[in-house]
Amino acid sequence: MDDQTALTQLGRDPERFDGVVNPPVYRASTVLFPSLAALEAASRRPFEGTYYGRFGTPTTFALEESMAALEGGDRAVAVGSGLAGITTVLLAFLTPGDHLLMVDTVYGPTRMFCDGFLARRGIETTYYPPAMGEGIAELIRPNTRLIFTESPGSLSFEVQDVPAITCVARARGIPVALDNTWATPLYFKAFSHGVDISIHAATKYVVGHADAMLGVINTTAAHYPVIKQTAVDLGHCAGSEECALGLRGLRTLDVRLARHQANALTLIDWLVARSEVRRVRYPAWPADPDHALWQRDFRGASGLFAIELFPCAPEALAAFVDGLQLFGLGYSWGGYESLLLPVHPEHSRSATAWTAAGPWLRIHAGLEAPVDLIADLAAGFERLRSSASPGL
Ligand SMILES: *Cc1c(COP(=O)(O)O)cnc(C)c1O
Repeated sequence: MDDQTALTQLGRDPERFDGVVNPPVYRASTVLFPSLAALEAASRRPFEGTYYGRFGTPTTFALEESMAALEGGDRAVAVGSGLAGITTVLLAFLTPGDHLLMVDTVYGPTRMFCDGFLARRGIETTYYPPAMGEGIAELIRPNTRLIFTESPGSLSFEVQDVPAITCVARARGIPVALDNTWATPLYFKAFSHGVDISIHAATKYVVGHADAMLGVINTTAAHYPVIKQTAVDLGHCAGSEECALGLRGLRTLDVRLARHQANALTLIDWLVARSEVRRVRYPAWPADPDHALWQRDFRGASGLFAIELFPCAPEALAAFVDGLQLFGLGYSWGGYESLLLPVHPEHSRSATAWTAAGPWLRIHAGLEAPVDLIADLAAGFERLRSSASPGL
């Protein structure tokens, strides 16, 4: 079945619910068993079936099954946020004395977790450049227990050669995790590229409407038990309401992403011609340095990219940002609206040099008409110019 069709079919069973199209939101803590024997049998296999609210409800399972099937994983674990998914995976594989290989362009809070929480517990992290492919072999130590990838990287959007890394890791029996939030299960098929664990901040495109926090870990049958056990040990669980919002988001994921991508490319075509813009990073843009790698491994692009402006005064940047009407100023992305955020990758890089001299802006192309978005940006550049050179 093609993905577009799968998105309409997965995770639902109208016959089970009087013909109702979508699975209901199960609100549950207690789950009752008909006999002591049934309760004891369920306790021996708590990851199968409905056991206790924290282990998941039928709504949770519908989302987990849909996400795993879309991406080609065996099973999924839903948790309360994308970051909870990431920390669950790190804690599932790492114990004191272990070594972690982490991409330098990783999501900032993931880096903070490694440098703080993990470091304090004697787990050492080595950051490697995102351009490192099979060369990663040289960084592997006898105590390396996990290789973590994120492609494209947060804030600067470098694409990693994930197949080269998984090939090296597989030969040494080291699992590879991927933060696949940007591409979603639709646009990067993590498991066909050898990834063992694919983590999604479903908060972003899966939910897609900026109204819920949700994380999903997709994985193989071999790694599922330790990941699910760790999530359970930590007390993580996703709310059924949030899982239902994730399921709802999946139904339109394909059409939304296509529009996000088209709008991003339209904006970039306009932005690169502006004299204020020095550089663009978006792997789906043909002139991007990682375009060929993206084209080889990805099926599409989402709407998140970055631009570098030529250096300007802080007041000029503020004039540009503060007056925008359609581009919101705030964290997260993947909702229907456009966002624009000045960001500082130089604060979260240690294995690569950050060379941009001017402001670095992360832009989320939303679902608006590009003509309106361009008019908003054009007015912003006018403010930037008049603020930069008053009276001219
Ligand atoms: C937002 C984000 C996360 C964290 O997701 P939350 O649901 O906000 O915890 C993780 N990874 C990436 C790449 C993200 O952009």
